Amino acid sequence: MSNFSSRLIAWQRRHGRHDLPWLGADAYLVWLSEIMLQQTQVATVIPYYLRFIASFPTIAALAEASEEQVLAHWSGLGYYARGRNLHRAAQIIMEKHRGEFPRQYRQILELPGIGRSTAAAICALALHERRAILDGNVKRVLARYCGIEGWAGEKKVEEKLWSQAEALLPPPCRGRVGEGVEVINASTPILAFPLHGGRDLSAANSHIATYTQALMDMGATLCTRGKPKCERCPVQSDCVAFQEGRIGELPTPRPRKVVPEKHATFLLLLHGNDILLEKRPGSGIWGGLWCPLQFDDEESARNWFVQNGMAASEGERLEAFSHTFSHFRLHIAPLKIRLAHKPLLAAQPGSVWLDVEEALRAAIPAPVRVLLGKLSGDASRAACMKKAWNDRARTP
Ligand code: SF4
Repeated sequence: MSNFSSRLIAWQRRHGRHDLPWLGADAYLVWLSEIMLQQTQVATVIPYYLRFIASFPTIAALAEASEEQVLAHWSGLGYYARGRNLHRAAQIIMEKHRGEFPRQYRQILELPGIGRSTAAAICALALHERRAILDGNVKRVLARYCGIEGWAGEKKVEEKLWSQAEALLPPPCRGRVGEGVEVINASTPILAFPLHGGRDLSAANSHIATYTQALMDMGATLCTRGKPKCERCPVQSDCVAFQEGRIGELPTPRPRKVVPEKHATFLLLLHGNDILLEKRPGSGIWGGLWCPLQFDDEESARNWFVQNGMAASEGERLEAFSHTFSHFRLHIAPLKIRLAHKPLLAAQPGSVWLDVEEALRAAIPAPVRVLLGKLSGDASRAACMKKAWNDRARTP
């Protein structure tokens, strides 16, 4: 057992996270958690994960669901391509692997939305296969521990990190459990690993799961982006960044570049309690989700409104807000228009009139949820006021 890996495993046993709902789960659930955890914090993921598995407890259930249902469960988690890929991958597993999550690394890697590190994490955590991972947190840990300079987005730097990730893996164990094989956690399992009969090598390698979880836990709880807790770190004695006082420099940040700014006008067309939403194309931002009509500016929105023969009974500019995507910032000016009459356009393909409350349960992005939440509040307040007036009118 290498020094680095044995210290990490021992640390995980005493101080790692042992209450994550996907620990010791099967490959399907580990896959789901890994996809949700890409770009998203554990605390945010847990309620989404629990709701998701309650609705789609098996790969078959996920494959049979509509994309609409899957995205509704993803709504608010961001990076919606993850949800669409998960759904598509479940269908491929049903078609090509008879509904069984594939057990070969290459087959896992072929599924949409699964990259090298995610495939390796599934192999290590669920199948106990000796594979190196390199997610964002692990890149930070290794850049500091090994003193690797350069932005991890550069190919050369990434290759160095991968080769360190592989070099630091615990050595493979061979043979059957109980036959003199060193299995760190065989007697006191840290994670509830399902050990299958006939998978002796897997059982012998089960410490790879603990090691992988240790790396993840360390990146999330000790070797954090700001103010790492080096005083509690099990590898502090030979961490290059700590020993050379370079923690503030490593990992090397992404070269600064100006984030492009874009502007849009959201047209919130309302009739009674209904709002007109349109489905976004499958690719691009908020792909496949329901959004209000979007225009480049207010003038384009007005032109469209006039060209479609609509008549407003009232209109209001709502407070503008910004939403930051990975590659640009979008400034959104919402325009709320109450229509005098519901137009026939309602039946246009790709658009739908939905009750605001119902829309809040549909697959919509987080900023639209906030906007509709405000409209829903307005509608409830209006309903209360109307009731109060009516009640007063009835009071003798
Ligand atoms: Fe990270 Fe500090 Fe540990 Fe080095 S000593 S790996 S910087 S937590």
